[in-house]
Amino acid sequence: MLNKQELKKLTVLLSGQKRIVLTTHTNPDGDAIGSSMALLHYFEKKGHTVSALVPNDFPEFLSWIPGSEKMIVFEKKSKAAKKLLEKADIVFCLDFNALSRVGSMSETLKNVKVPFVLIDHHIDPEMESFAFVHSTVQISSTSELVFDFISRLDDLELIDKQIAECLYTGIVTDTGSFSFSANNSNTYRITAELIDRGLVPDKIHQLIYDTFSENRLRLLGMGISDRMLVWNDLHTALIYYTAQDLEKYNEQVGDTEGVVNYPLSMKNINLAVLLTERDKNIRISFRSKGDFSVNDLARKHFNGGGHKNAAGGKSFISMKETIELVKSELSNYKKQLDYQLTYS
Ligand code: 5GP
Ligand code: MN
Repeated sequence: MLNKQELKKLTVLLSGQKRIVLTTHTNPDGDAIGSSMALLHYFEKKGHTVSALVPNDFPEFLSWIPGSEKMIVFEKKSKAAKKLLEKADIVFCLDFNALSRVGSMSETLKNVKVPFVLIDHHIDPEMESFAFVHSTVQISSTSELVFDFISRLDDLELIDKQIAECLYTGIVTDTGSFSFSANNSNTYRITAELIDRGLVPDKIHQLIYDTFSENRLRLLGMGISDRMLVWNDLHTALIYYTAQDLEKYNEQVGDTEGVVNYPLSMKNINLAVLLTERDKNIRISFRSKGDFSVNDLARKHFNGGGHKNAAGGKSFISMKETIELVKSELSNYKKQLDYQLTYS
């Protein structure tokens, strides 16, 4: 986390009117877009010229977020994005811990010579890539850290309804509507503060969660009924979607978001896995309950990482082989996966 001295240095760097570029991770989620847009509005209020980049498209259910139409998708507009980066005075990196997490944008970012500021909550940030690091795994979302950052700069009065809605989006999506990583009382204090500034949680919740297309809901149902494997001895359930499945349901960006959480609602299931096949690659999502670290699992065996209870990775072999690989790797963790959550 930034100490007083670093904060002072950063304040000096941000004095006057600066060209600021905000960046976030591949397959941006609610926290990535929410924290980026909150910071964009904040810096604009401070008089800076701000742009926000995302490596690839974000889901439609986040498109209502005020300012999100200004997002520049690197995959589609790399020339414009590169120009902005060339002219930037300072670059903010939000909700990711290593430059490799921005996919196709990472080579370009590596050649940018201005100071980088990291605001993030993933484990083991790549310290050498950033001049300033505001990072801790103790806080459930980058959006909450952005609130903290604005507060440390003594600018809480600049948090208006729009910024509050952006920050709430990150908080509510990264905590699964306050159902995990939500044991810190500060998360609720901040949320209360956001309500006082005009946020209406019911409305935002509906905008995020009650916008399924018929196809998306049917894809979820099909996944649970026809594509779910339950390995009781490993306390694990896995859902997989082949490329043909996704095509059949006319999958749109974000349609498989949240599917991975459903298997965890089964008693005695401590680990949930979702495999999605696109362009011959398989993306892997892991979610766990309790102490089992899917960050360690994803890092060690599946070219990925994330948080203790939510992580992702990739596989470059077939669906059938990936399922077999997941099962055989997990068989080495049989003991660690065998626990029961009880009331105490
Ligand atoms: P999701 O399963 O929702 O895609 O990702 C869950 C968490 O894991 C997120 O915090 C995300 O940043 C992280 N994550 C997902 N995919 C990868 C990956 O390929 N590499 C790393 N390091 N983290 C990932
Ligand atoms: Mn996050």
